[in-house]
Amino acid sequence: DDVHKHYKQNRKSIFYHPPVVKAMNGVSFTLKRGESFGLVGESGSGKSTTGQVILQLLKQTSGSIKYKGKDVTTFTKKQLKEWRKNVQIVFQDPYSSLNPKKTIEWILHEPLTIHNIGDKAFRDKRILETIEDVGLDASFLDRYPHQLSGGQRQRVAIASALILEPEFIVIDEGVSALDVSVQAQILNLLNKLKDKYTLTYLFISHDLNVVQYFCDRIAIMYLGEIVEMGKTEHIGAKPKHPYAEALFSAIPHMESVQGHVPLKGDIPDPSNPPHGCPFHTRCVKATDICAEVRPQPVQWNESYQVKCHLYKQAEKVKVTS
Ligand code: SF4
Ligand code: MG
Repeated sequence: DDVHKHYKQNRKSIFYHPPVVKAMNGVSFTLKRGESFGLVGESGSGKSTTGQVILQLLKQTSGSIKYKGKDVTTFTKKQLKEWRKNVQIVFQDPYSSLNPKKTIEWILHEPLTIHNIGDKAFRDKRILETIEDVGLDASFLDRYPHQLSGGQRQRVAIASALILEPEFIVIDEGVSALDVSVQAQILNLLNKLKDKYTLTYLFISHDLNVVQYFCDRIAIMYLGEIVEMGKTEHIGAKPKHPYAEALFSAIPHMESVQGHVPLKGDIPDPSNPPHGCPFHTRCVKATDICAEVRPQPVQWNESYQVKCHLYKQAEKVKVTS
């Protein structure tokens, strides 16, 4: 709820005051149990920061994060450790997230040891069950990460997130480094596991195609803000925010956006975001007000939100769908 994450750029700066990056600038959303919620945006939009702040791997500057009604930002170290059994993260590059010097068995064993779960017999059984759940088998257990293909490594990363039977998994660009055919296999696997384990996913990706395929709802981030959020079928049928329009129109064969909506220039420096609407420097629909006044979120209907001066709260009565 209204989460901000601002940090000083970590470089030896010639500036007396190092620039402050506003990676999250008032981010609010609610995840429903059992859904796949997609967070999309260009690199530098604050998606990964959002995932890590939710899991308290990074501390927010302000705002609250509630998990089943409890504010995890107030948790003690002990409470956090206990909570972490339920929440996991899978990163883009299993090369860097899997310890190269350890066998797959060791890697899967580690979370069970850290959380002191079960005896040896239980752990062996759980490791075998989990490696099979991700479509591999016992023959992989004494191999090392470098002996596996990219897809197999990602399966191991998923297994190590699953081993404690969590409820919620953040998948940060979890299929982005893989070939398209392998991507599809991993996405199907994630869907299967979601049913089997009753999981909830926060799925972070720059790839709108993949997010559209995989997620029930989508939030589009730009410069640390959610600019549009709604059910995938609604956003896909007709994105409202000009940034969302531009992103969708860049996907070949998307018929919901008339013609190609251009995106001018690059994403601005997040330590010096534009005044008014953060998107105005690149927006083809910008008017005078856009450079002056920051738009507030307009709740279009129960499940749809957009942050742009083109839309007014009152207009929602005209919408029938
Ligand atoms: Fe474009 Fe203005 Fe809407 Fe921002 S508020 S997206 S600049 S039209
Ligand atoms: Mg990222």
